[in-house]
Amino acid sequence: MGWQLLFDNYNASADIVVLTICIVTGIFLATSFSVRTKTFGLFTAMLGGLFFAAMTDILLHICYDHVSGGNYTVVYVLRVLFHFFLFFLLFLFILYLLALLDPTEKKKMTVITVSATAGVMLIITDILLSVFMFGFHIEPDGTEVPGLNIFIPGYAFFIVIIISLLFGIGDRLYSKTVISILGSILVSFMMLYNEIRFGKSSYTVSAFLFPILSILYLFHSNPYNIDTGTISVSALKETVEYNYSHKRDFYYVCLYLPDFASEGKALPKDLQAAIRQFPAKYFKRSALFQVSNGFMFLMVPGKHNPDCEEGLRDTVRAFTKEYKRFRYNYKLVIGKSIDVISRKNEYLSFIKGILRRTRINSIHMVDNRDVNDFNASDAVLLELEDINAKHDLNDPRVLAYCQPVLNLKTGKYDTAEALMRLNFPGLGMVYPDLFIPIAEENGHIHVLTEIILHKTCEAIKKLLNEGYDVNRISVNVSMHELRDAGFTKDIENIIASDAVPNGKVAIEITESQTDSDFMIVKSMIEELKGTGITFYLDDFGTGFSNLERIMKLPFDTIKFDRSLVTACKTDKRSEEIVRRLAGMLSELDYSVLYEGIEEENDEIRCGSMSASYLQGYRYSRPIPIEELEGFFTKE
Ligand code: C2E
Ligand code: CA
Ligand code: CA
Repeated sequence: MGWQLLFDNYNASADIVVLTICIVTGIFLATSFSVRTKTFGLFTAMLGGLFFAAMTDILLHICYDHVSGGNYTVVYVLRVLFHFFLFFLLFLFILYLLALLDPTEKKKMTVITVSATAGVMLIITDILLSVFMFGFHIEPDGTEVPGLNIFIPGYAFFIVIIISLLFGIGDRLYSKTVISILGSILVSFMMLYNEIRFGKSSYTVSAFLFPILSILYLFHSNPYNIDTGTISVSALKETVEYNYSHKRDFYYVCLYLPDFASEGKALPKDLQAAIRQFPAKYFKRSALFQVSNGFMFLMVPGKHNPDCEEGLRDTVRAFTKEYKRFRYNYKLVIGKSIDVISRKNEYLSFIKGILRRTRINSIHMVDNRDVNDFNASDAVLLELEDINAKHDLNDPRVLAYCQPVLNLKTGKYDTAEALMRLNFPGLGMVYPDLFIPIAEENGHIHVLTEIILHKTCEAIKKLLNEGYDVNRISVNVSMHELRDAGFTKDIENIIASDAVPNGKVAIEITESQTDSDFMIVKSMIEELKGTGITFYLDDFGTGFSNLERIMKLPFDTIKFDRSLVTACKTDKRSEEIVRRLAGMLSELDYSVLYEGIEEENDEIRCGSMSASYLQGYRYSRPIPIEELEGFFTKE
């Protein structure tokens, strides 16, 4: 006895367990998120192969036990099918490894041809052996004769190919992964060995289970973050690729929480719960990817959410409701899949670009302009590099626009804010919300400031020469350039060489976010004192201004941000706070300027809140600096 797989020693329980595991795994895969890669397709095929192998094994034995009239054809057919499924599984396993190892096309084709041919030959031999009674056959009295068994050498052959693949081109795989796969193959080998050794035949299919489970665990498990229900962002690219190649639209909802953007700052428990429950409440089969602690990307398949446009509107409503509960700072970006971005698979950089341009606590609906901006950003960067390299203070690509500011004491326009625009051949006009972040990140912002400062000085001199009453024009500088040691020297040089009269140039600088930035601003202001430049605090009310800090710096003007002007429109309490703040600052001899005055009501309200200056679309949109003549008056 021994060394034979005998029908008599068969018991279906092991195969039933395999069937059950296949079904349960299928349910897991259907209900949880999986990255739809090519290897995932192979994996599901393997799972199917295993299912059918177990199924035919059970059927084969049932038929053998119940055959009447001595016609065993069905048993023969099922037995061949059974072997076919097992060899097919081994073949799929080889395809899977090839997809992982990615050898040269030639090697790949050789391995595929050799294994496929071997598989076909093995099955044919199996059939022939039975037909000519050398192999397995059943005597007319019903006793089985094992005969020559081709399955065992066939199995050994495939295992040799698999192991030589793992060792031959295995350095592409992480070594611990290789060890896991080898370990699972060893377990399966031991099972088969013992089964054959002791003349049992119940565990053949279950032996194949382990390598398949090792693949599931190693390559297709996408562990959910238990707290937030999110999936690692590494799966996003492959999911986008799958959707794009299958022409499937999707919607996305990106939540950015700046307060939790830095690593290590965990989300509070109640916020985690809200994030965990949110997607399922509004969408079917959505997947929530976690980019970083404070940045989540919800992908909603269009196919399963045909009324998604409506759903997105619901999302905004639901989000606003949830927001009232938490009140953390946020930015929300919502949109539909776009072919160009999907093809390049660049949603994250696309969204990051939009996030940079999106105001805090606002919702941005992605539109065509965002795509154009995204496509333009590479081109913009090239131009900026060139502007930086040429360092020409008269560079025609950098345009000085400006917005006249109304002086309430005189009722006239005698100051203005310089605002930059870029004009590139082929691209046309590019606006600050696109190019400022690119310039800042790539170290090209300073040259732009120098050019705008120079052009502003030239404009001031021209206006003065023509007899216009110019109190002052302000220029924006960025915190990024202040951190460079050479900043003040460069500004002094331009002011000196342009010889603009004292006191006609102001610098706008936004509130500092950190102590070290505050120290940098402080020393910048001290170093530039001698130049006659005055300093404005820009965007007051958007950061974390500390009055004590503000008063430590010699600001001339405090510019109240547009968001405060907007808040006063609807909220009495905000109005009261702004009114008192402005009153206090103006008593301390600061000039108060309100930005974003758009309508008469803004003008009346802000005018009554200690304002010295008003600025906004109500008076003028940004115009080319030469057109200031139309606003300024002659003495
Ligand atoms: P900012 O310094 O707060 O400039 C005011 C922005 O508000 C300008 O946008 C202006 O066009 C816009 N604005 C003015 N009045 C109204 C209004 O009534 N309603 C609304 N909705 N908006 C109004 P712009 O020109 O697009 O500039 C955006 C930002 O880009 C500026 O914000 C500033 O931070 C930056 N920026 C602009 N030019 C320069 C520059 O030369 N250097 C640097 N470093 N930054 C600049
Ligand atoms: Ca400004
Ligand atoms: Ca501002």
